[in-house]
Amino acid sequence: MKINDGDPGFKHEVAAQPGGEGLKVCFGCAACTARCTVGQHMPEYDPRRIIRLTLLGRRQEVLASPLIWRCSTCYSCSEVCPQEVRFTDVLTAIKNLAAREGCAPPSARVSAQLLAKQGRLLEVSEFENEKRADLGLPPVEQHPQDFQSILGITPEAEPDGEDAP
Ligand code: SF4
Ligand code: SF4
Repeated sequence: MKINDGDPGFKHEVAAQPGGEGLKVCFGCAACTARCTVGQHMPEYDPRRIIRLTLLGRRQEVLASPLIWRCSTCYSCSEVCPQEVRFTDVLTAIKNLAAREGCAPPSARVSAQLLAKQGRLLEVSEFENEKRADLGLPPVEQHPQDFQSILGITPEAEPDGEDAP
């Protein structure tokens, strides 16, 4: 890679997203990589590498990578980071950009569609509520309109998932 190959605006674009603010103070110590629960089982998943590629402006390589969707959001990396980068949140900012560019995997799109439609990933039916009643638990009520108001959508205008958080 040549030094001029990158998009110099990419790091600023990520840092401007909610959660992305800490990106530019990373000094590459790799404590996040050493602690990462996913990286322990998948060596190709490397938080520090994702940050370095982002800082170097490797926009398409980062946004199109399936690896950015492998994070379990356990926040272990954030706990050990001496710079308070909060990589988990930086990665969420990166994933939001990727989703806007149509790079979200099908599973994320389906999840976004379910959230937009019913306000939760698992629809709670009468069956579940009858089981809860048998256990003396109150019914779970669904209020999809609450989530829809957060997203700024109407029930009739379900998104295709690419703009969802
Ligand atoms: S632990 Fe923090 S400072 Fe160190 S490489 Fe990871 S994000 Fe950067
Ligand atoms: S939040 Fe993601 S990147 Fe951080 S340690 Fe957990 S799996 Fe790894």
